[in-house]
Amino acid sequence: MSRIVFFSIPAYGHTNPTIPVIKELVNHGHQVWYYSFNEFQEKIEAAGAQFVSCDAYLPIISAEELEKKAGKDFAALIEMVVDTTIAMDQQVCRELRDFRPDCIVSDSVCFWGKLFARKLAIPFICSTTTFAFNQHTARLMKRGFKEMIAMFTGLPRINKKIRQLKNYGYDVKSFIALIQNDNFTDTIVYTSKAFQPMAETFSNCYAFVGPSIIATETAPEPKDDRNRIYISLGTVLNQNAEFYKNCLLAFKDEDLEVVMSVGDKTDLSELGEIPDHFVVTSRVDQLAVLKQSEVFVTHCGMNSVNESIYFGVPMVLFPLHSEEGMVANRVAELGAGVKLKSSQPEQLRAAVNTVLNDLSFVNNTKKLSESFKQAGGPKAAAAFIEAKAQRA
Ligand code: UDP
Repeated sequence: MSRIVFFSIPAYGHTNPTIPVIKELVNHGHQVWYYSFNEFQEKIEAAGAQFVSCDAYLPIISAEELEKKAGKDFAALIEMVVDTTIAMDQQVCRELRDFRPDCIVSDSVCFWGKLFARKLAIPFICSTTTFAFNQHTARLMKRGFKEMIAMFTGLPRINKKIRQLKNYGYDVKSFIALIQNDNFTDTIVYTSKAFQPMAETFSNCYAFVGPSIIATETAPEPKDDRNRIYISLGTVLNQNAEFYKNCLLAFKDEDLEVVMSVGDKTDLSELGEIPDHFVVTSRVDQLAVLKQSEVFVTHCGMNSVNESIYFGVPMVLFPLHSEEGMVANRVAELGAGVKLKSSQPEQLRAAVNTVLNDLSFVNNTKKLSESFKQAGGPKAAAAFIEAKAQRA
């Protein structure tokens, strides 16, 4: 039996794929601790791991500030990471010294997990719920001018924070060393080699296990013969009344069933009249909805796209920042979806009809789905972690 510790950030997209993996590890008799956030406590405990709350360590940030910064202000991200690490340092290092884990598995952007592992010389695995990232794929992430300027002007702030880390015994050479995935770090990537751009540039330390999805076998809800389109902007940057209104306008006269998940911060009354063939709600069981959908209009979060491909559902792509742009470009390149030029109603309608009427989209998506199912999923991820923990 091994002792394994997980770390993640407070985001569904980064936490969800790890849940089936911890279930698998717990079923194999391993003891798993998970440093996460209260929002995820129930899920983590239901999977059999010991939940450790990190909420008290997070800097207080308003929803508006998060909206402004997410995926855009890189220096602010590093500042938050360093502040969180320093806030956790004393308590968590003490707990880890007592627990003596055989392995730490930390999300690729949950840098404090990696920092604790390095400081305490505990074997480390990086868990990547996005595409794996290196100097080659960096070129595909076409950052906007504003993002580049923000990154450049933020460098002095970043370097100051890195120096602060050193004072706490974290030997970080540069911020690149903090954020980069190198070819020597054991890394789990929750997608397949077929979907990963430039997969050949990653070493054998990378395990491309495919999405970590446990598809429930419950009977699907009854559905009529109309095509169903599912629309979602994910769980983070999902306050976008203008986009949702455009969707209502685009599909109000179409013979379709439309399911639209708008997040809990969207005021439904702001959206005006909702036609009968629409279901508009704050959150859905996305896997269950996708199983019965013909097209997914998505913001191109990696999990949403992985899930869509898994169920063979082609996509209309509406990325909101550069990382999602890279995912959207890959989907379009492989013929599994169409990228929107704008979210005007006529563009939305045309893109959905293109995907519905051209069978190549669904066929290409199904080919990718096959590569996902062969990649091994949570079982392969758990086996990779077990092997590392046993070598410890
Ligand atoms: N999700 C869900 N119900 C919803 C909207 C989203 O269950 O109504 C889940 C979705 O299945 C996915 C995650 O939330 O696993 C969203 O992750 P993604 O990486 O796509 O986007 P993010 O929310 O991180 O922007």
